Amino acid sequence: MRLLLVEDDPMIGKSVRQGLLQDGFSVDWVQDGAAADLALANEVYDLMLLDLGLPKKTGSQVLRSLRARGNPIPVLILTARDAVADRVKALDGGADDFLTKPFDLDELSARVRALLRRRAGRATPSITHGNLVLNPATHEVSLKGRPLVVSAREFAVLMALLDRPGVVLSRAQLEEKLYGWDAEVESNAVEVYIHSLRKKLGRDFIKNIRGVGYMVPTKA
Ligand code: CA
Repeated sequence: MRLLLVEDDPMIGKSVRQGLLQDGFSVDWVQDGAAADLALANEVYDLMLLDLGLPKKTGSQVLRSLRARGNPIPVLILTARDAVADRVKALDGGADDFLTKPFDLDELSARVRALLRRRAGRATPSITHGNLVLNPATHEVSLKGRPLVVSAREFAVLMALLDRPGVVLSRAQLEEKLYGWDAEVESNAVEVYIHSLRKKLGRDFIKNIRGVGYMVPTKA
């Protein structure tokens, strides 16, 4: 899952980014409202973490133009504790949730997972597809009730494909889910992860649509 973090405080931004990376998210971090607009226009994100007090363009303005463009991604607001009026305005203006600073990184990750789950139309914490069960919070995977060991990257590939079964994702789209701007992408990394996942899950679990990309069929 690829997240956009908009935060001008270098300390907070750095630690939030680090925490989310450790939890297996890919994170792009920008430090002002204009850069957020640019990132949102050029990349596809699964969720945005948005500070309200930002240089160049406020978080509220970024949010307003995002929704005016019809972009439905979940938005989690990061605000100061005393800014009640700002939070109410942001929620009524199209934000989905908020956290007040200082916040706990585990709570932040849990809220991100909850928003992503709702966006995918799920209420339950784990993702089930046929005999396969994934837990996004613990990164545990089981197949036919037996634990299955997958790497963090393999888990991310699987999450991206299971987010929308039946939809084909290109290699480039999968790379975007796996890596932020800063990461080096090895040219055949996605193929390597898919190959390994097929060995673990069975060849037919992930379909290769030649020249287009990969998908998990709607019924396993
Ligand atoms: Ca700020």
